[in-house]
Amino acid sequence: MTERTISEFPREFIRQMGELLPEAEIPPFFESLKESVPTSIRINPSKIRQPHLPQHLPIPWAKNAFWLKERPNFTTDPIFHSGAYYVQEASSTFLQHVLENLSLPEENIFLDLCAAPGGKSTLLSTYLGNKGLLIANEVINSRNQVLKENIIKWGLGNTIVTQNDPSHFSGLKESFDLVLVDAPCSGEGMFRKDPDAINEWSEENVQLCASRQRRILDAAVELVRPGGYLIYSTCTFNASENEYNVNYLLDHDRFNGVNIPIVKEWNINKSMVEYGNKVSYTYRFFPHKVNGEGLFMAVFQKIGEAAPVNLSQKRNFRHPHIKQVLPRQLPSPLRFIEEAEIRLFQIGETFFGLPSSFVPEFEKAANLLNIRYFGIELGEVIRDKWIPAHAYALSLLPKENFKYLRLDYDSSLTYLKKKPFSLEKAPKGWLLINYQGLNLGWCKNLGNRINNYYPKTWRIRME
Ligand code: SAM
Repeated sequence: MTERTISEFPREFIRQMGELLPEAEIPPFFESLKESVPTSIRINPSKIRQPHLPQHLPIPWAKNAFWLKERPNFTTDPIFHSGAYYVQEASSTFLQHVLENLSLPEENIFLDLCAAPGGKSTLLSTYLGNKGLLIANEVINSRNQVLKENIIKWGLGNTIVTQNDPSHFSGLKESFDLVLVDAPCSGEGMFRKDPDAINEWSEENVQLCASRQRRILDAAVELVRPGGYLIYSTCTFNASENEYNVNYLLDHDRFNGVNIPIVKEWNINKSMVEYGNKVSYTYRFFPHKVNGEGLFMAVFQKIGEAAPVNLSQKRNFRHPHIKQVLPRQLPSPLRFIEEAEIRLFQIGETFFGLPSSFVPEFEKAANLLNIRYFGIELGEVIRDKWIPAHAYALSLLPKENFKYLRLDYDSSLTYLKKKPFSLEKAPKGWLLINYQGLNLGWCKNLGNRINNYYPKTWRIRME
């Protein structure tokens, strides 16, 4: 951001920060807003074990997350496009530490109500692995596209992407072990990353955000099962969008605050908020104390106990537009998929696979919500010809009937730009493009030319 002095920030914002911070911390806080934004990534442990980017330091509250010494050009890194890591600012990865300190059952169903672009959803997806299902919801269409792209890249197949207002979830009352409300907010914690956020800031907008957040919380409280958790977070500092909403939640009288232990050296501001006979614990990340963006988080547990979900119940799937199909109905290259593990679905001419144990929950969600994506898209049949889906290439599903085409860095970039390329001696047919052991997508070798099947809207737009 351009060099700003304290007086250039909105007066009400300065006053509010004066209430939140001890006097000695005000100048370092505003100084920190002039500094460059630290870059960090969280790796996808299903795809890589260590970051390949040089000079990294582990983020202490999140395994798999690392600060980078400088910001590389992610666009020209083929490994970025393989879904092997997500660029996520360090404070947000605190969610990992929170998850590890909750008493969650073996099998879980999570809901991320405000999910785009998908930073926290990909973290939740990794946490769940093959033992749980995530519904990642984003109400805004353009942002939902980005969320879907990031879920596809992550490739775990345990996620359903929906596009609904939080109130549309009312049919899934008390269905989730954990609901995350990473709420749309006034974005004070993003001031140095996005200086436009400073110009858009106003006290009226703070109040508008606070009431929108309460509306989202009203929906969320109904969705958590007894004994389950609700996590509320914002990337803003003010009390209206944070503590006042925490108190609003405690007013529902169905939640207790959860105390998440932290290490003093992490420099996270932890507070105990008393409200009536209840207490809650809040975690604030200030950019002058933590090498990350501003973040606020509080965790709650719903009072009562419920039987843990049983993801292994089986029954037939019923839906007006989504048809369940058998492996023998699939195009031949996919017939090795085991029905016991993966159930197959068809929408129009497109095939999808979803872990069998998630089918009952999927059926419920599909009949109530606007489903944008689920499991792994496998491919489609167009005029009797089978076209494998990009999502399948990036997924962890076996690809035993396909051959690989291993490309070097320059050819991988040509592929990711969706430019034509030719290779001598490549086998014919569908080939998986692979860079350093990671899949980037498909191409088809027709003999006289190679067709590049990288998705048009995802291509790198640079020379
Ligand atoms: N969790 C995301 C991540 O980690 O990448 C960031 C979420 S962002 C802070 C909040 C999201 O809420 C935005 O994508 C925004 O479009 C969405 N949103 C906006 N209005 C909403 C509403 N009324 N209900 C639910 N979500 C809303």
